[in-house]
Amino acid sequence: MDRNSLSNKTESKRTCKGVALLGVASCLALAACSEKASPPVAQEGERVDHFADNAWGNPLAVVQHPAGEHVNGVTYVSYQGPLEDPYVAAYDHKSDRWTGPFKAGVSAMGKDPNRTKKIDNHGKPTLIVDDEGYIHVFYGGHGGTPEAHGDNPLGNHHYGENKHAVSKRPYDITEWEDLDTIPPFGTYNQAVKMDNGDIYLFYRHGAHRSDWVYHKSTDNGRSFGPAVSFLKHKRRDDLKAVDSWYAWVGRGEGDDIIVSYDYHLCWDGGAGVNGRGHTTERHDVYYMVFNTKTGVWTNVEGEELEMPITREYADEKTLAARTGERWTFNGTVHLDSKGYPHIGMNIGEDLGLKTGGPKRTSHYRWTGEQWLGGEPVADIAPSVDSRGDFLVESPQEVRYLLAYREEGVGVVAWWNSEDGGKSFGKGAEVLRREKAGWAITSIIRNSIPEARALVAEKQPGSDWHRVYLLGDEGPVSRLKSEAQQLQE
Ligand code: ZN
Repeated sequence: MDRNSLSNKTESKRTCKGVALLGVASCLALAACSEKASPPVAQEGERVDHFADNAWGNPLAVVQHPAGEHVNGVTYVSYQGPLEDPYVAAYDHKSDRWTGPFKAGVSAMGKDPNRTKKIDNHGKPTLIVDDEGYIHVFYGGHGGTPEAHGDNPLGNHHYGENKHAVSKRPYDITEWEDLDTIPPFGTYNQAVKMDNGDIYLFYRHGAHRSDWVYHKSTDNGRSFGPAVSFLKHKRRDDLKAVDSWYAWVGRGEGDDIIVSYDYHLCWDGGAGVNGRGHTTERHDVYYMVFNTKTGVWTNVEGEELEMPITREYADEKTLAARTGERWTFNGTVHLDSKGYPHIGMNIGEDLGLKTGGPKRTSHYRWTGEQWLGGEPVADIAPSVDSRGDFLVESPQEVRYLLAYREEGVGVVAWWNSEDGGKSFGKGAEVLRREKAGWAITSIIRNSIPEARALVAEKQPGSDWHRVYLLGDEGPVSRLKSEAQQLQE
């Protein structure tokens, strides 16, 4: 099926070079899929720091991850593009050549002109490369609808349809097809590949009032087993609210997968108990480990857990920290060289807004005996929001890549600690843009110093954003003529 040419017609109003170029896609593809490094070709012309300008809405986030992966000298990246569809680009580090972006699928969202909230943003892509080199993208979901998808056995509905696309050929991003492997209800897709090639897909099985689940694939993502709940949503009997969760899932040691999460107190609708309707009220920090070989979940002390986790049980067994009156926004988790978890959690005061207020990325770590930390990483005012991810080596050495604003200027910079997160100092600044706000991803899979994460630069007054691939020192540049996807 040539879905791309179909969508070409519907997108004529927002002409995009990425789409228009599909006719000559196969020649462009060669740069990305060639195993042999072709001799570098001098690319003349003005270069820019971004690699595309057609990221749309809130096109990237920490939670939908990996947003990209580095394999065999090529970094593959994904983001939400025009009409909320998933787009994929690739950068060959040896030949200094970009390809794409190409549309990897058609989202069920982003196309209905009658919808009040035009851009849903929950279906931004998650990308992972299987052991045979096929590139997988999971996208487009936010709970599905009863009309289109029927009963959601593990939660509630909202919009969209969770989908799975795969590249038609290994290491080649030019052509894609959908695979029918997963239920339509999921959102916040997170893909984890183990050393034996098994792929685990984690996500929330619907809107707020849904379980978090995973599926396992042992055939390079060609099929997935049934959904297995690990975080349970549950009505509270003491409040007019439902227990809900936000999780971030990554690789642990060996066969382990690790999970950090925070708790969402999902108030009933209308004005709500607090008088400001439904809010993003979230609290506290939790952590646990899944041994994929034995199927056993444990807490940080190695105690076996009964699954799926309820709020009461999480408070008893998996709590890393209470955040009190302050609200949270879940970040990421990684192990240090001793195998102890470090957690990034965004924390801020409740300012009576639907979102609580700005949140600063804060650091926690397990010492083997206790959880320490909770202080903001970057030396920024409480009124400033930061987001990002981190790399950790020894328990003492932690490096955060954070996106935030500094006196009205958008900044992306490293913040480094050599004392286990007790204190951080500002390191290299990798991007600075007047008036910009940012969307940033997690550190991409198997990242190398030249390419760590994606950011989108949000300028006031536009839903179109430039998107950058950032390394330790700065962005990976591209010819301006190639980066320009939107017609002027
Ligand atoms: Zn809620």
